[in-house]
Amino acid sequence: MTIDQVSDSVYVVAGTNVNWALISDGTGVTLVDAGYPADTPLVLDSIRQIGHELADITAVLLTHAHLDHIGAVPRLVDLLNVPVYTGAEEVRHAKREYLQQITPGQLVRTLVAPGGARWVAQTLRAVRGGIGASVPTATAASTLPGGVVALPTPGHTDGHTAYLLPAEGVLFSGDALVTGHPLSRRTGPQLLPPVFHHDLARTLDSARALTRQPAHTLVPGHGRPTRLVLADFTDTVR
Ligand SMILES: [Zn+2]
Repeated sequence: MTIDQVSDSVYVVAGTNVNWALISDGTGVTLVDAGYPADTPLVLDSIRQIGHELADITAVLLTHAHLDHIGAVPRLVDLLNVPVYTGAEEVRHAKREYLQQITPGQLVRTLVAPGGARWVAQTLRAVRGGIGASVPTATAASTLPGGVVALPTPGHTDGHTAYLLPAEGVLFSGDALVTGHPLSRRTGPQLLPPVFHHDLARTLDSARALTRQPAHTLVPGHGRPTRLVLADFTDTVR
């Protein structure tokens, strides 16, 4: 686990091939995404490492309800009854009214990709014990804590939602726009490999829309946080 402070109040934590972020406003902490199930102890520890108690968590914002983003949520809800917000459509996904996620067959086929075997092994370890996780308490809210604005960004999942912290110019793009992945050979703004997206064309539209947001720091679901430079994005995303 590594923790990078990217603005006055935003900390980005790298767990098992996935990021979560902490927005610390001095009194409370908002968690943006929550790692894999096996990352749960790291999520809890990251809150302490930025100087907060677990009880300081006031809300969890989910970009989407894939297993690598909801991991610590069941534990946090159990411990603290913390509210969990996501987009209106993603609420249905979080409750598992339907599932838009890489299938076991697709996972097996990634074994032949460069870096695939290692990534599959890490992923299987990371989902252990949480493969059937869901977030029955997820809700949509018109106003989010700390002045965060929700940005519907469908494609990766139908209800995928990015978040903007306008006061600090920080964009949390989730899996609509990333800067790296173990199955990618390069770093910098890009889309995840096609197998991960429910609808690739809509993901691309959403990613392009994100680059027009008034932000200068990109906090992706996967890869390193980076300065958001539109030219970098249009040159490299395909
Ligand atoms: Zn992800």
